[in-house]
Amino acid sequence: MKYALSYLVIFAMVLVLLNTYPVVASQDLLFASKRDSLKSQTAVMASALMELESLSADQVARVMNMLDSMGLTRILVTDPAGLILYDSTEPEKDEPEEGAEPPPAEYRYALYQEVVSALRGNDVFYTRYHNQMFTSTAAMPIVYRGMVIGSIYILEVDRAQGELLYSLQQNLRSISLVIAVMTLVMSTLFSKVLTARIAALLRAIRIVGEGEYGHRLQPVGRDEMAQLAEEFNHLTDRLQTTEEVRRRFVSDASHELKTPLASIRLLADSILQTDEMDPEMVRDFVADIGSEAERLTRITEHLLALTKLDSLPAGQQFEVDVSQVMERTLALLQPVADAAGVIIERDLRAGCKILCTEDDLSQVGFNLVENAIKYNYPGGKVFASVYRDGDQVLLEVGDTGLGIPEEDLPKVFNRFYRVDKARSRAAGGTGLGLSIVRDTVRRHGGWVTARPRNPEGSLFTVGFPWLVPEERGKGEAE
Ligand code: ADP
Repeated sequence: MKYALSYLVIFAMVLVLLNTYPVVASQDLLFASKRDSLKSQTAVMASALMELESLSADQVARVMNMLDSMGLTRILVTDPAGLILYDSTEPEKDEPEEGAEPPPAEYRYALYQEVVSALRGNDVFYTRYHNQMFTSTAAMPIVYRGMVIGSIYILEVDRAQGELLYSLQQNLRSISLVIAVMTLVMSTLFSKVLTARIAALLRAIRIVGEGEYGHRLQPVGRDEMAQLAEEFNHLTDRLQTTEEVRRRFVSDASHELKTPLASIRLLADSILQTDEMDPEMVRDFVADIGSEAERLTRITEHLLALTKLDSLPAGQQFEVDVSQVMERTLALLQPVADAAGVIIERDLRAGCKILCTEDDLSQVGFNLVENAIKYNYPGGKVFASVYRDGDQVLLEVGDTGLGIPEEDLPKVFNRFYRVDKARSRAAGGTGLGLSIVRDTVRRHGGWVTARPRNPEGSLFTVGFPWLVPEERGKGEAE
């Protein structure tokens, strides 16, 4: 309705202009040409009459009969008092009416305003367009040796040009009518098409809002509405992907939680249902229950960590020395490495500062080094190094362990992804360690990659933007 109305208002304005301007302009043009022709005609007649010393009806009639009336409707000549000496519309004398004879022109006075004004010495011209005709009058004094000896008054009623102007007006009016009807139809159609597309978009938003993420729009053409439809589809694609990831995560997580719970139940049932169980065996079973419970705790802790990474903003960042943090982390993991018979080698350079939090950075280092120990052979090695490369600080954790098959490399950062499920589980893994690493690193503006290490094992590299140290004591030096 609004669209249609706004089109209509614009077209109404155009139509008003179309109906007034050409008519007014041609009317003005005709007025000007009438004024010129009537003035020159009056001037010609006046100058012919000026030849006469004094005006008398006979002389005037003689002169006037010689002149061409040039399509004029009426010509009047008066004496200085306004008494009509000549009237071109006077009835023929030889056709007198029955009964009372009309008074001859000589006894009538022309009391027109134009005549009065002309007798005062003015040139008068007046024209108007009315009833499809132009009525124009002109009057002029007849001057002989500086004396006004009479006036001439002419009247022209022009029907032909009046009708021409009228038909122009009529034509414009019918054209306008056609345009108005067309505009009405077109604007209604246009707005119908436009609002139909908006309605389709609204409907689609509502459907997707209700959870049907597979719904898509068909973009038509290349205009803004089509772009809007495409953007909507992109958005819904992303929404669908996010939703799928969320669903998979929930189902994976519940599956992961179900397994240790089932083991705990099985172990507990066995203890309950076995009469006179060997105390040694009971202890073993209870120890197993304990380790399953520990696994549950680890999984829930990891899940909580991931949820926090997803939902909380980056928070405050501090200046952190990566080498110092790694030093502490390696010290923490040394007993684990010793137990596994793995040797840790380090190369931690100074001056590698980044913006992060100690907890987050240490979590990243811990997970990577712990994996390097877990997926290693006894007597294997772990290499931890921190160094600066251009404007980045790199943290590398390599090992001489099992390595990761090429096809699994891109997937190891996915949640719950494990190359060797049994080994991971046996080593107490949850399949979430590397996801936590990736999410944490990204939160602080960094990146992480995994690749095979030459000649064996794997190599994880984490990069953070280097925090350029502020120049100290600069003020003092100056
Ligand atoms: P998990 O808790 O199972 O260790 P992660 O997310 O830390 O989970 O790792 C995912 C998988 O990637 C592991 O199950 C393992 O198969 C593989 N992986 C991770 N680090 C290494 C490594 N240093 N060497 C070989 N395989 C690794």
